[in-house]
Amino acid sequence: MPRFLIVGAPGAGKGTHAGSIADRYHVPAISTGAMFRSEIASGSDLGKQIDALVSSGQLVSDDLTNQVVKSRLAQPDCITGWLLDGYPRTVDQVKFLDGILDDTKAKLTAVIMLDVPSDEVIKRLIKRAQIEGRADDTPDVIKHRQEVYEAQTAPVIAEYEARGLVVHVDGSGTIEQSADNLMEALDGLKV
Ligand code: AMP
Repeated sequence: MPRFLIVGAPGAGKGTHAGSIADRYHVPAISTGAMFRSEIASGSDLGKQIDALVSSGQLVSDDLTNQVVKSRLAQPDCITGWLLDGYPRTVDQVKFLDGILDDTKAKLTAVIMLDVPSDEVIKRLIKRAQIEGRADDTPDVIKHRQEVYEAQTAPVIAEYEARGLVVHVDGSGTIEQSADNLMEALDGLKV
């Protein structure tokens, strides 16, 4: 059963390419960032608390994020597999996901790592700010999110590297080039 993670720096194109992986394997693409943005948009008290963190480029707490993911993965559309985009982002979240997988005797298929140099991701985020106007795409927040990524999320990737699960995809070119690289990498997997 296909169970994928897509990882990479903010601006690497996770959201852009998640859909094509999900379509290929007929699994839901689950983005914690998108779930948080919709909670914020609902105007709930919880949304307001999340907004304060997201719009300043900080991570939402592990406890809350883990619970959100746990209940989403328990939905019926996840029975045949899933793709997680933007989770896990901390080593604590890796351990929590390990627990969810162990409970169901499930295993990760692969961790798709979109490799993009940091000057390129910053350029992309500045462009996205002009197009989408995301609250967390201002120059200061962009810089902070890259720092958070290096400090908190790089160790997550190192952990999956050590487990031999990471599949590197060159995501530095155009969307089309990256999509071709991604499909070629997936062709190489036994799923
Ligand atoms: P993204 O759309 O994946 O770039 O996520 C946008 C923002 O949502 C991040 O900068 C964090 O503030 C928050 N977020 C998304 N996923 C997580 C996660 N796994 N853990 C903590 N915070 C998260």
